Amino acid sequence: MSERRAVKRYTDKPYWTYSMFSLCAQGICVVCPKCGKMGIVKEENDSCVFKCTGCGERQSQRFERKECAAEASCKGCGRFFREDVPKEKQQFKVLNIKCPRCGEIAAAPVRLKRRLTGIISSTDPDGVDPNTGYPLYYRTTFDGKPIWALNREHLQYLINYIEADLRETSDKRFIGKKTQSDHLPKFMKLAKNRDGISKALRRLQEK
Ligand SMILES: [Zn+2]
Ligand SMILES: [Zn+2]
Repeated sequence: MSERRAVKRYTDKPYWTYSMFSLCAQGICVVCPKCGKMGIVKEENDSCVFKCTGCGERQSQRFERKECAAEASCKGCGRFFREDVPKEKQQFKVLNIKCPRCGEIAAAPVRLKRRLTGIISSTDPDGVDPNTGYPLYYRTTFDGKPIWALNREHLQYLINYIEADLRETSDKRFIGKKTQSDHLPKFMKLAKNRDGISKALRRLQEK
């Protein structure tokens, strides 16, 4: 008798959970041009900063403009949002802003506007960080097509999602709306590619 395997369910995340915008404080992982080990690109104050975890190389580039935005992830629906803050309100540390999706009020910290440029879809042909021009650290190909993750947490998300037999949306309010997996190209979602892509992603995890 063959062993019965439990059906793996996975609940998808909100659309912007893993994006350059939501990860710019935490950082995204790229290949260090000096030593080939992992470096982190993130936003610090008013600069885009690269730091290598291997050789200690550090590069920093100031963003030019000084505009502020209030940003938060809505506690009600999970949506990440950002609103421009007019000059007269820029002295506040936190502003109460209504979530554009569900209307819940969120306390949004006022920050200098994000200046990191995003790569969002896994259909990006190169998997290169547009801010530094360095390739993403967690990058590989499957069947000649690029697969990449912005950082380890995003990689784990992809593995959970790809390996699930049943992929569910995270919230009823997301039905018909977008979730994180809408960023993924179709080939990554096909059942016939599941094992191959899962292997490729797990190899990245061992890097
Ligand atoms: Zn290095
Ligand atoms: Zn909301």
